[in-house]
This record gives sequence, C-alpha cells and structure tokens, in this order.
Amino acid sequence: MSQTSKNIAIVGSGLVGSLLAIYLRKAGHRIDIYDRRPDIRNVEFSGRSINLAMSVRGWQALEAVGIADTIREIAIPMHKRAIHLKDKPMYFQPYGKENQAIYSISRGVLNRKMVDLAEAEGANFIFNAKVWDVDLPNATLSIGEEDEKTWEHKKYDMVFGADGAFSRIRHRMQRRSRFDYSQQFLQSGYKELTILPDANGKHKLDKNSLHIWPRGKFMFIALPNLDGSFTCTLFMPFEGETSFESLRSVDEVRRFFKETFPSVEKEIDDLTHDFFKNPTSALVTIQCYPWTYWDKVALIGDAAHAIVPFYGQGMNAGFEDISVLNSLMTIHGDDWETIFDQYQKRRKPNADAIAELSLNNFMEMSAKTADPKFLLRKKIEARFAEMYPDKWEPLYTRVTFSQRPYAEALAYGKKQAKIMDAIIQLPNIENIWDSEEVEQEILSRL
Ligand SMILES: Cc1cc2nc3c(=O)[nH]c(=O)nc-3n(C[C@H](O)[C@H](O)[C@H](O)COP(=O)(O)OP(=O)(O)OC[C@H]3O[C@@H](n4cnc5c(N)ncnc54)[C@H](O)[C@@H]3O)c2cc1C
Repeated sequence: MSQTSKNIAIVGSGLVGSLLAIYLRKAGHRIDIYDRRPDIRNVEFSGRSINLAMSVRGWQALEAVGIADTIREIAIPMHKRAIHLKDKPMYFQPYGKENQAIYSISRGVLNRKMVDLAEAEGANFIFNAKVWDVDLPNATLSIGEEDEKTWEHKKYDMVFGADGAFSRIRHRMQRRSRFDYSQQFLQSGYKELTILPDANGKHKLDKNSLHIWPRGKFMFIALPNLDGSFTCTLFMPFEGETSFESLRSVDEVRRFFKETFPSVEKEIDDLTHDFFKNPTSALVTIQCYPWTYWDKVALIGDAAHAIVPFYGQGMNAGFEDISVLNSLMTIHGDDWETIFDQYQKRRKPNADAIAELSLNNFMEMSAKTADPKFLLRKKIEARFAEMYPDKWEPLYTRVTFSQRPYAEALAYGKKQAKIMDAIIQLPNIENIWDSEEVEQEILSRL
C-alpha cells in the first residue's frame, strides 16, 4: 500500500538514522535528518573507530533498498573465530557452514557511506544541530545551542528518535507516566587499540577471522580492516585485580600484554601507546517501553534498545527494526497509529531477547571458549547438528545467520542448553561423545 507523503524529522544520522532516511525517502516522504555532530564525512577518525560485525539481519535490510553490494565493497568476510589461548597454538572455530561469514566493517567508514547514500536518495542532512527537546503531541523539535532562548522550534508530521543510547527524544518520553526504563552498566569497560599492517601493508594475523584472546574476566579481540590493520578491543573490569584501574604505568601495561597475550608480543609498543591515548568506555544495556507516542514519535535503534556488543547484533537489530517498520508501512499505508503500535509490539520482545543473549555471550566469549568442557559441548552439538540439521540449529547460527525472531532463538537456546547440561553429565562423556548412545540420548530429550 502506498503512503501519503509526510514531513518527517529523524534525530541522529548514525547507522540507523541514515538507513531509515533511505527507506522513508523511497516511500515518498520528505526527510530532515539532524545530528549534533559535524558531517562525519569531514571528520578524521581517532581513538574510537569501532569495528562492527554485520550479519544476515543487517544485510537483509541493506539488500531490500539495493545498497548491499555497495556496502560489501567496504566489508571483510570473517568465516571463523581464531582462538588464541595462552599455552596452546592458535586454532579456528568456524562460525557456521562453509560459505557463512560475518563481515567486519569500520563503523565510521560505513556511516560515511550511509550518509552519502541517504543524501543521494534526497534526505536533507542538518549537521551541528543539537536537538534538546521534543513536544510529543505536536512532533515539534527544539534545536540549537545551550541557551534555551536561542532554540529554534521545528514542527513535523512525525519524528523518529534515532539518537542513540542516550537519546534526547527518549528522555522526553521518560518524563511521562507509565514509561518503563532501565539501564544497567557492566562492571567491565572497553578500550580500542590497533594492530598496524606489516611492512608490505598486509594483515599480520589471518584476515578472514575474528581473533579472540579469551582470558576469563577479560578478553582481547581483533577485527580486520581493509588497510591491513586490525581494530582491537580490550574488554576488562574497570576496577579489581586485573583491571583498567590497576594498569597505571607504561611498564605495567607492557608487562600485562607480554604475559597475557604472548601472540601479540611484537605489537606491544603500539598497543601500549594506544592504551594511554584512547579512552576507556562503558558498556550499557538500556531497555524501555513504550517506544512510540501516538502516530507522532517513535524510537528506533539504540535509542530504543542499547545492548552490550558481545553478540555483534546492536546495529543488526537496529537495521531489523527498520525492516519490520517498512513491512508494516507496506501493509497499513497511512494508518501510522497502527504501524507504530504493531512496530513496538513486534520489536520489544525481540530487543529484550537479544539484550539477554548478548549479556550471556560475554561469558561464552571471554571464559567458556577456553574451557575444555565447553568445547566438548560445542563438539557434541556441532556433530548432532550436522547429522540432524532439521532437529538442531546451533543458537549462534539462529541469531547470526537467520532472520527468525530473537525471542524465538532465546527460547530455543534455553531448551538446547538444558539438554546439553544433561548430556555433558553422562558418565565417560569425554570418550563416548561421538557415540550412537549420546546421539540417541539427545534425540530422546528433544
Ligand atoms: C564496542 C562496540 C562494538 C560493537 N559491535 C557491534 C557489532 O559487531 N555488530 C553490531 O551489529 N553492532 C555492534 N555494536 C553496536 C552498534 O555500534 C550500535 O548498535 C549502532 O551504532 C547503533 O546505531 P544508532 O544509529 O541507533 O545509534 P548511534 O550510532 O549512537 O547514532 C546516534 C546519532 O545520534 C546523534 N545524536 C545523539 N543525540 C543527539 C541530539 N540530541 N541531537 C542530534 N543528534 C544527536 C549522534 O551524534 C549520533 O550520530 C557495537 C557497539 C560497541 C560500543
């Protein structure tokens, strides 16, 4: 069903805001998109150049507006995890079947491209424009400098808050009665570091892997960039025995890298330099409801659901919000009240599910990938999944390589975990893990 053209404002020209602008332009709407920051295409990146893993949900949303091939040019496929344990040689864990991969993309490079694409589609970007407030029933934005008297008030038919985890638009909704809101910070934070290319401009580690150095309470990961470098992230508690707080001097940091991550010993000078140059950032889960106000205002992306990054799904989930919104626009045409109502009802349980899955995956990535019992579980699961693909889909595969709802994946994963908890307790499981007995036991419990 086609729609009558509306005058729509999007607050936030991040990944979600700019993709939403493309969708809304294609549906025939007039789009102003505000960002408090300068135009990202003119900004030099430094310090926090986050790399993202794009998976099926993200690609699908790009594909539907014909821009996936353009984005693929700036992405590197990662078919496997490369696990670096302390006392063992590095080994690979494939993510899925042979041709399945997640894709490493620089957030900044992707954002620049998305702004270009949205502009080419006819969206009107207004940078250096901070939105301070929104009048919800009138979809009117207050924009300007700190001094309230200088604010400009701009009225629209509709406003989307794509203004990230600390959204101003949500802030206004929070002041209404019966608005649920929670934020939960992790005890761990993160710091971005870089492994530079070798003398020939090539990658120093396997280029088509997401590298992980799991060390229990903390971990180090590295994702490839197109220029031969790796963007690395050190996740670690803020306080405590081994923590950001405990690493104060250059010598302490050098010793930490040398003892904890021996396979990056040659990079220690650069890593230590970055450690002191780059900020330490916090990780937060934000949940709220409702996400919409009448047919006037809607939250989308991190503004509606900020999650910790351990499933690599934050942006993917935000892009999926747009896919769902778009499918509802096609069904309900000009009935925006129904579109908004259905949108929040369909997305909220899934946003909560991916928030929970992401928190759980921190343990899996940082501690369990180094635990022999966990690896045995994975081996049993992988074998069974291969033998009975219609009976057992690994949870990671369902989240990352399918478009089945996150809530369904969470429920399915819990059921699988219960079965595997029992299987791993079977006597002598280390020796009979690939036996028919184990196979039959799983079948009987399904
Ligand atoms: C370390 C880390 C790793 C991650 N890894 C992954 C990954 O592998 N895969 C994945 O899918 N996701 C990942 N994510 C999550 C992903 O980065 C976010 O989900 C995604 O960037 C959210 O996009 P957004 O457009 O909703 O919000 P943002 O990217 O936060 O954009 C919000 C925009 O709004 C603007 N803005 C804010 N307030 C105002 C205001 N008052 N007025 C005007 N403009 C405003 C901001 O300047 C910004 O441009 C990761 C996140 C982190 C922190």
